[in-house]
Amino acid sequence: MSALLQVTGLTAHYGDFQALFGVDLTLDQGQTLAIIGANGAGKTTLMRAITGIARVTGGSVLLDGQRLDRMAAPEILHAGVAMVPEGRRLFPSLTVEENLRIGAHARQGSGFWTLPRIHDLFPVLRDRRDHPATALSGGQQQMVAIGRALMANPRVLLCDELSLGLAPVVIREIYAAFPAIRDSGTAIVVVEQDIGQALKVATRVHCMMEGRITLSGAPADLGREAIHDAYFGVR
Ligand code: ATP
Repeated sequence: MSALLQVTGLTAHYGDFQALFGVDLTLDQGQTLAIIGANGAGKTTLMRAITGIARVTGGSVLLDGQRLDRMAAPEILHAGVAMVPEGRRLFPSLTVEENLRIGAHARQGSGFWTLPRIHDLFPVLRDRRDHPATALSGGQQQMVAIGRALMANPRVLLCDELSLGLAPVVIREIYAAFPAIRDSGTAIVVVEQDIGQALKVATRVHCMMEGRITLSGAPADLGREAIHDAYFGVR
């Protein structure tokens, strides 16, 4: 069976600066993949390259065999890869519900994720549906950002630094939604500097350093020590 998402030999540049050096990764249906690494390792660039925002200069990205790396960002979203960007980037002048409905513009036909299902996933968004997005707490805004991405009914959901700036109890609340997302058939990639949280949800983990994946495997097989060493660049 071929992978849902197959990234092979991916390179990306910002002008002359090379940020990714031949990254390979595979994501299967029902998997949650964690990408961890220190500041500047290239995690965000990898997410941006997959979604067509960063300039891909080599290699390929396939979704169910379909070539994404030559498509523009909106086409990639239509094809089934949605991103929850670092910093959430909600529309501040719109309500919670309007922000969620914007995500539906990218959907192809029907699908599992509807407004009522997002409300069931994060009930507070039903209670606050008419509030301006910016009136919500940071954690609630993160829920809106996840809900907005899910409204596109993606096959793959990429989440960049969900836990940044949030209290541990709020982070746990957000990650508690992950099993339901995965069970809906949406595979997940999480990018985190918070290793502990990433390892709790991940079926596989990739450690990145200086634009390369330096360690890959199931968290239980790799062991905490090897993961910490890869994260901090101990060889
Ligand atoms: P962080 O956790 O800080 O987001 P990261 O692992 O996501 O780190 P990237 O943001 O992907 O890392 O950055 C990878 C490298 O690319 C870094 O050296 C960074 O300075 C560089 N970089 C990122 N964005 C740009 C840009 N817009 N222009 C030039 N260089 C960039």
